[in-house]
Amino acid sequence: MRMILTEPDIQDIFSVAHDLSDDDKILLRKAYDFSKNIHGGEVRFTGESFFWHPFLTAKNLAEYGMDAPSIAAGLLHDVIEDGDTSEEEVRSIFGDEIVFLVDGVSKLGKLKYQGLERHAESLRKLFIATAKDIRVIIIKIADRVHNAQTLSGHPKLEKRQRIALETRDIYAPLADRLGMVKIRGDLNDLAFMHLNPHEYAQTVAQIHEKRSREDRYIQSFRRALEQKINSCGIENIEISCHEKHVYSLYKKLTLTHMDIEKVYDVTVLRVVANDVDECYRILGIIHSAWKPLPGYIKDYIALPKPGGYQSIHTTVFSGDGGIVEVQIRTRQMHRDAMYGIAPYIRSSGGRLYITRECPERDLVITRLAQFGELIEWQKGIAHSDEFLAELHKVDLFRDRIFVFTPKSDPIDLPVDATPIDFAYTIHSDLGNHMSGARVNGKMVSLDTELRNGDMVEIITKTSAKPSRKWYDMAKTSMARKHIRAALAAIESQKR
Ligand code: MN
Repeated sequence: MRMILTEPDIQDIFSVAHDLSDDDKILLRKAYDFSKNIHGGEVRFTGESFFWHPFLTAKNLAEYGMDAPSIAAGLLHDVIEDGDTSEEEVRSIFGDEIVFLVDGVSKLGKLKYQGLERHAESLRKLFIATAKDIRVIIIKIADRVHNAQTLSGHPKLEKRQRIALETRDIYAPLADRLGMVKIRGDLNDLAFMHLNPHEYAQTVAQIHEKRSREDRYIQSFRRALEQKINSCGIENIEISCHEKHVYSLYKKLTLTHMDIEKVYDVTVLRVVANDVDECYRILGIIHSAWKPLPGYIKDYIALPKPGGYQSIHTTVFSGDGGIVEVQIRTRQMHRDAMYGIAPYIRSSGGRLYITRECPERDLVITRLAQFGELIEWQKGIAHSDEFLAELHKVDLFRDRIFVFTPKSDPIDLPVDATPIDFAYTIHSDLGNHMSGARVNGKMVSLDTELRNGDMVEIITKTSAKPSRKWYDMAKTSMARKHIRAALAAIESQKR
């Protein structure tokens, strides 16, 4: 096993974070020290000190532009589960908000995906309902990004497969809905690599082969483009070269039966400009020097994609026999394509807000609405005018609740359901022999209304039988049907 002796440096988190105050830094140092202390001796399956995992999770969050409590929760996300501390201790040091985030992350960790694609949508909804705070989902995504990156080192094939499936069917779509386009692509590629190693390797080889053939004219096109832009007086732009995500190319090639020679965005040049005006000027510069391919000019700045993606795409003849796609966007659009809504979510007094800097507030609202976060515009609320909008949590599943079996399997029930409904939903025999119920470890009466997230355990006795009272207490037609049948059977035995 490889042993890595270097130690994570908190400065690495500070240097990638977007806007930390001195107080934020004090908080993060405290979380760093606490987590290092708890995880200090543990070694991860990769051979590294376990502490690297929460550290890199937190560093991902800092890079996404998340707030300090979320970054702290990233550092602390495994201390209660794996470490030598208690929820009370963490609460006494770091307060309710951070414990709430850490707790949310461990609850999500208990939801297991069985790999059935038809269940994926309901599990994604369950994730959202369980998380209660959009930041919990983003912390879980940052955690998953690191886990997926280090998955090759995992000794168990079965576990690697499950994590890869979960990454593809649950996490990548969630990242997509948050506008984290780049992260969605990375997650899909990591999953693809483990789920279809052969196809993955083949597609990577195709990309490299095309890239090596085209590199010469892409590089000379890039130099010429840079010169032309500079000579027009536009400065401080960045031009970089990007390869298409492997999974997305694979889908394009196989699902649409396309020939890779006809795919012009295997390698693209990306121009990051200072503002929208410059983007259009750069488009003009390109089209006056190189002939564009008809039908390949897409203005996603004027007409953003449904997910909110913005950029201008054009594909031109490079003049030396090649064809190059160029994508032009502002810094802001670039950041948004990387991290979606993450940099704009902040909290104050236990409530979430969208920050003022958020450029596409309507879009963020649409995205959050998909997550069941309703936004009420209340300009001038809160004393700080940093905040434009306050988010109120609404229940996406107004009429449904999710409760858990002792093995953490989620059970979907109507809002006023009781332990009787729970038992009959699992199995009629469990219902018919129920003698009592525990909710979150405490004995309760059978007419107790269950609440979202409750852990329910049914106690049985062979001699126990349903009664007329149960029939009145049950809320689901399924439970009533079984109780009626059982009561009729008892009646007929008496006769
Ligand atoms: Mn973790």
